[in-house]
Amino acid sequence: MILEEATPSTDQELNPWHAAEIRFDEAAERLGLDDGLRKILRSPATEITVHIPVQLDDGRLEVFTGYRVQHSIARGPAKGGIRFAPDVTLDEVRALASWMTWKCAVVNIPFGGAKGGVVCDPSVLSQGELERITRRYTAELIDFIGPERDVPAPDMNTNEQTMAWIMDTYSMHKRSTVTAVVTGKPFQLGGSRGRREATGRGCMIVALQALRKFGLEPNETRVVIQGFGNVGGMAAKLMARAGFKIVCVIEVDGAVYNPHGLDIPALMAHRAETGSILDFKEAENLPREEALYLDCDILLPAAKENVITSHNADRIRAKILCEGANGPTTAAADRILEERKIFVVPDILANAGGVTVSYFEWVQDREGFFWNEQLVNGRLEEIMVNSFRDVVAYAEKHGVNNRTAAYMLALDRVAFAIKLRGIYA
Ligand code: NAD
Repeated sequence: MILEEATPSTDQELNPWHAAEIRFDEAAERLGLDDGLRKILRSPATEITVHIPVQLDDGRLEVFTGYRVQHSIARGPAKGGIRFAPDVTLDEVRALASWMTWKCAVVNIPFGGAKGGVVCDPSVLSQGELERITRRYTAELIDFIGPERDVPAPDMNTNEQTMAWIMDTYSMHKRSTVTAVVTGKPFQLGGSRGRREATGRGCMIVALQALRKFGLEPNETRVVIQGFGNVGGMAAKLMARAGFKIVCVIEVDGAVYNPHGLDIPALMAHRAETGSILDFKEAENLPREEALYLDCDILLPAAKENVITSHNADRIRAKILCEGANGPTTAAADRILEERKIFVVPDILANAGGVTVSYFEWVQDREGFFWNEQLVNGRLEEIMVNSFRDVVAYAEKHGVNNRTAAYMLALDRVAFAIKLRGIYA
């Protein structure tokens, strides 16, 4: 039975926890998951809120609010990024934590799901202030994180440096260097080869798989990418190298378009030089909204949540939607895309390359033995290709769309682990 939902209000539609609940309920219903397991999996296992005093550069004291939500540890330590942003909410962190549980289960790596966030505006904070926020936030979470417990990683506005500060703070409290407490660290401190490119590389791998469904070759494929940051930039670079025609890149201030394909390394150099992708040679500037609706083969949103909603899903003209960002499509938009037969590679599969190489990093840190890039990329490819095939086969077998299939597969794996462990009630 498909759960029918009344048309959501805009606020409701854009609430990520609401979207997570709708998708969870639909997959649980289709799987026939029993009520008890539904109750366990529907709510996060642990939610921590901290209010952290931090001294600003001018001597004033400010109190920042931070969250860490551990959704599930049924399949292994909780795993998930930490974001710094002024609009972080507990609902958003909850949704992102649950998506991490499902993502790790879809690619079958031995982690649960978590996410963290600190409500702050990094654009007005100095490096020193960011370091003090990070260290105090870590200190408050010291009993809740750890290599066997909960392993943070970077997310929006946090980076390798943030991870180095977390690793150092944790290590100081533990009186020994514990590199495996976080992933996405600098290479010199136990980071993995290939981690920086991993999410974009994973997107490229699944896009190549999706193309086969349409009998298309990369060089006859037009790609539109929204967001030219870590995920979108890397995906653009690697896909262009693999022969895809990246016809449009969309950023906050507008888009650049060339129907014959953009020269991505040159576009990166242009942005580094001018601070914007706009006014790039041999390309036309377009307004960013218009660019999202270009006729193309692959649309790869790699910027933020809630880009494709019930208000614009009917204007998307891509054959394949490959979700590099987390939650770019609302639950209400899913139905419209399905009706229009757009082939969706859902976020919990498409962007799982990052957490997969994070898993490799955690393994390497614990082993104290580091792999070369070829080994990392080869193992990543194997996991992404197998996961894509698992999801598509599941979708075909159960007659559901790819997103529902990915959720069903993930829920099934997590529920199975809970049943095997038994419930300590
Ligand atoms: P990022 O900050 O490096 O890049 C995001 C880019 O999107 C920036 O260049 C920003 O200017 C641009 N952007 C923001 N709003 C936009 C808009 N309205 N239109 C067009 N461009 C816009 O972030 P990232 O690490 O690349 O993450 C992007 C998304 O991918 C997020 O949803 C994140 O949660 C998800 N994700 C990231 C990783 C990872 O390994 N970095 C892994 C999985 C999922």
